[in-house]
Amino acid sequence: MFRAGETRQKKLNLLKQLPSEIHTSSVPSPSSEGRELSYGLEFINNLSKSTATSLKRFMYTKNNCDFKIISKNLDDDINIDELAKLVSVTTEDGEFFKDWLSCYVTDASAETITPAYNDTILNHDLKLEFLQPKLNIFCTSNHIRLISIRSHHVVLRCKLKKKLSKFTTKDGGNTTSHLCDVKNCLRPEHLIIENMAMNGSRLACPGVILILQNQEPNTPKKIMQIKPCQHGINRRNASGNFLKFSCRKIQVMIEDADTIEYIKKLV
Ligand SMILES: [Zn+2]
Ligand SMILES: [Zn+2]
Repeated sequence: MFRAGETRQKKLNLLKQLPSEIHTSSVPSPSSEGRELSYGLEFINNLSKSTATSLKRFMYTKNNCDFKIISKNLDDDINIDELAKLVSVTTEDGEFFKDWLSCYVTDASAETITPAYNDTILNHDLKLEFLQPKLNIFCTSNHIRLISIRSHHVVLRCKLKKKLSKFTTKDGGNTTSHLCDVKNCLRPEHLIIENMAMNGSRLACPGVILILQNQEPNTPKKIMQIKPCQHGINRRNASGNFLKFSCRKIQVMIEDADTIEYIKKLV
């Protein structure tokens, strides 16, 4: 994200980027998910959708999850209240984008720079009626006393039609990807499966750009244009909903004579 004081030219340059310009070679990789989680994945895959959903609800409650906009994902040139009040030329107004941007995060470390993934330990102490019989059988047959699962894997199990495949950071392999770059976010809409190159390239992506126009004094600004990020535009199966897979970060630009002129040249 561009912080206050960084040049306006950088934002203008963002508008120039073409959909094909996703650079994957020069961005840092997200932390590996390659560590051994195979028991966890196997156990999650063996759960029915309804049991997985009960487990998801348990995790949300246990972690005091709540909707929250993580400050790094919103341009410093606008605050959350201003964002929510934006009016729009389309149905995607400020309230829409406030919800679109909000993560569903565990209460711990939501604002740390590098929050850890949220893990859930499943063992006898939990005494979860809906889970205990399956847990006992699984632990006994594998000679283990507990299972450590990545909480967001459970969310994905509930969300996706297919069972989860083994995740790998190797070329072409699948990883779990947070559209918001917030590791402890457990919001289903912010979680997808994609390959490592795409996942890594999201780190450097500025996200969606909103072109705003000043209105009368003391009235909210108006969203005149919405520029989804390249990930959202390039994603197959987006069915024209380019915001669905766009990185959940927002940059804003105030439409003035310079910006209008610049955009005209791009078209
Ligand atoms: Zn999120
Ligand atoms: Zn992106």
